[in-house]
Amino acid sequence: MKVTEHIEKANGKALFSFEILPPLKGQNIQSIFDSIDPLMEFKPPFIDVTYHREEYAFKELPNGLLEKKIVKKRPGTVGICSAIQNKYQVDAVPHILCGGFTKEDTENFLIDLDFLGIKNVLALRGDAVKSEIYFRPEKEGNEYAAELVTQISNLNRGVYLDDDLQNTSATDFCIGVAGYPEKHMEAPSLDTDIYHLKQKIKNGAAYIVTQMFFDNKKFFAFTDKCRKEGITVPIIPGLKPISTKKQLNQIPHRFKVDLPDALVMEIIKAKDNEAVKQIGIEWCIAQSKELIASGIPVLHYYSMGKSDNIKAVAAEVF
Ligand code: FAD
Repeated sequence: MKVTEHIEKANGKALFSFEILPPLKGQNIQSIFDSIDPLMEFKPPFIDVTYHREEYAFKELPNGLLEKKIVKKRPGTVGICSAIQNKYQVDAVPHILCGGFTKEDTENFLIDLDFLGIKNVLALRGDAVKSEIYFRPEKEGNEYAAELVTQISNLNRGVYLDDDLQNTSATDFCIGVAGYPEKHMEAPSLDTDIYHLKQKIKNGAAYIVTQMFFDNKKFFAFTDKCRKEGITVPIIPGLKPISTKKQLNQIPHRFKVDLPDALVMEIIKAKDNEAVKQIGIEWCIAQSKELIASGIPVLHYYSMGKSDNIKAVAAEVF
């Protein structure tokens, strides 16, 4: 079923969902099942699986020269989605990127998903390759998520890249896109970012999932702005419970979001990471309850491979 159909069917009741990362290359799929199993009691109607593009690795050769290699550290998004749908009968939402994909690659990726019975995708631009500062699209690729949404919408109408193809079969993907309550790091302002977000909706996206945030006021202000701009699709808040002191610096650096002073001060005073984890869980429970009271359709948790703190939150909220 599509994410939007799950939301309609819930008839106003907030749903529980979460995102997982494929394991590092060399590990097996059991680690994924181990992180999903404890969360199944909260009946997630869909589970997101992130996509990780290639990185450059440099290996020193005996002659002192460096050999540049392209590596994919976390392959397996499509296989994991298929396994989730088979094992749990829960819809999987693979993330799909512009970065590292030509339009032809994208089309073939979507064909695989369609053949596997996957009905949902989260369409993203992706970040720059790790060793580079700015995002560079592939030569024959999509530059922005809005263009990727157009390509998927075209396929949903049976329009393939090769216009010589005849009697084509149309796909039927429900397309989600990313939104940023504290604006995307490259956007000159929140207003321009929302302007581009609106384009993704115009091109066919049916819902928005937000970047993590720790201050609900930012989410409410963002939602108000989106509604004023005429964006009417469901906006799903993304939440992450903080679990270590290190994350006080890592999260703002990696995701370009602010942490409220009250949360930061509590964490600074915590005696160890066990105490930090408890603070993160309680903060996330309070955020979740307030968001549900405001009428959000789904709460989406960033599990980042660890399910025990998400389970502790969900047990209090769902
Ligand atoms: P876009 O919507 O294309 O926007 C990127 C930037 O370009 C923004 O600043 C926007 O304002 C601007 N912009 C858009 N259109 C135009 C235009 N026409 N002209 C000028 N500027 C424009 N990354 C991964 O690698 N794998 C994942 O699985 C993944 N999952 C994610 C899930 C969620 C819910 C979120 C919020 C992010 C995720 N990301 C993931 C990170 C994401 O790829 C990055 O944040 C990326 O930098 C932007 O992606 P986007 O789809 O928002 O890009």
